[in-house]
Amino acid sequence: MRLTFFGAAGEVTGSCLRVEADDVRFLVDCGMFQGGRDAAAKNRVAYARDLGRLDFVLLTHAHIDHCGLLPRFAARGRAPMIYCTKPTADLVPVMLKDSAYVQARGSNASRGRARGARATAQPLYAIEDIDRLATRLCAVPYDVEFRPHPNVAVRFRSAGHIVGAAFAEIRLRDGGRERTLLVSGDLGEASPLVVRDREAPGAADVLVVESTYGDRNHRSLADTEDELVGVLHDVLYERRGNVIVPAFALGRTQEFLVLLYRLARAGRLRVPLVFVDSPLAAQASEVTFAHLEALDELAHEFHLAQRARKLPFTLRYTESVDDSMFLNSIRNGAVIVAASGMCEAGRIRHHLRHNLPRRECAVLFTGFQAEGTLGRRIVDGARSVRLFNETIPVHASVHTLGGLSAHAGQDSLMAWLRAVPRRPKAAFVAHGEPEAAHALSARIARELKWNPTVAAPETRYDV
Ligand SMILES: [Zn+2]
Repeated sequence: MRLTFFGAAGEVTGSCLRVEADDVRFLVDCGMFQGGRDAAAKNRVAYARDLGRLDFVLLTHAHIDHCGLLPRFAARGRAPMIYCTKPTADLVPVMLKDSAYVQARGSNASRGRARGARATAQPLYAIEDIDRLATRLCAVPYDVEFRPHPNVAVRFRSAGHIVGAAFAEIRLRDGGRERTLLVSGDLGEASPLVVRDREAPGAADVLVVESTYGDRNHRSLADTEDELVGVLHDVLYERRGNVIVPAFALGRTQEFLVLLYRLARAGRLRVPLVFVDSPLAAQASEVTFAHLEALDELAHEFHLAQRARKLPFTLRYTESVDDSMFLNSIRNGAVIVAASGMCEAGRIRHHLRHNLPRRECAVLFTGFQAEGTLGRRIVDGARSVRLFNETIPVHASVHTLGGLSAHAGQDSLMAWLRAVPRRPKAAFVAHGEPEAAHALSARIARELKWNPTVAAPETRYDV
């Protein structure tokens, strides 16, 4: 079998793994590169690349760095079928349409800046491409084996990452015999807040594991809860300001809401008003909570309380721009959750502009802030930032919640790998910055006595 990593090798975005065996060639994921200066150029190259005839695509989940380049198939003649779980199939069009919208806006902005010169960031695809692509999505249930090709059988198992996320157990004919390939996709912690627990992996001849946090562990959920309770109490009741929470629309926003629910229900905090100011997050929440079979009990309970209007706090999803602008007039007592998670785009930038200069307010980060992003500059202690062509002083306090991650930390990745019944013949560490991937690889070699390879981009491995 031949594996080629076209993305998420030496980095955490752009997941795209091509698998070739007897008479079959397929992809696992086809994601966008995100963050960093050269992402747009890499996406253009990846979008145009000839991957050869593909029999099908397996999609592990709906985050854009795993599904964002799928529309490339819509523009070509015979698009392959794309197999994924039901929640993922529902989320993909929502996520892709938002991505197309962000691309179009970015393109208009750069055209404006270039004053008629050639636009630097043409959108890769249009809404019609996504509609066409959506007809190729095929939803399959968790845990039930299906055959996308006469020589291949696949089972999706819960990865505990976001709703619908799966790792793939693949049986395929290779060199005339049956072999097994296990691809982790993105793995969550063992007991995530919103989605059902991740499953233990089965035996595999060849294994690919992610390593986003391959070199570190997260703070415990208990510590995170204490910190959150402390910040909210201090800001909302002592300092009488607002708490601004930049969060990814899919995954982190829902986790944050369920965490607030759990703490409020236990009587540990009082929150007067919570706003989710992101149309994408509202849609992602709707799809997430519509899939009760894929959720944890606590998320189920949250959903029922929300529907019955019995939440222990007032929760509002703001859709229109007017509603969003109204939030700017709220001086205190509000928790405002908005995207994007790294403050690079979206409504969060307006909330930062209005609340960063105020000492009584706080910004609460819930996720990883990549190098070069506005979020990272604020976390790193910038005294002022540029927003909407203005210099905005940073007087609000800045906090990072360490234990809210959709990705497993190093110990947790090891626990998952330890459950693999026998030693794989080949193992690959992918989806991690180089330090993280090498750290995980070294620990696997030391403790499990496997001999893993840190995946290099665009390199063909024969295994
Ligand atoms: Zn993901």
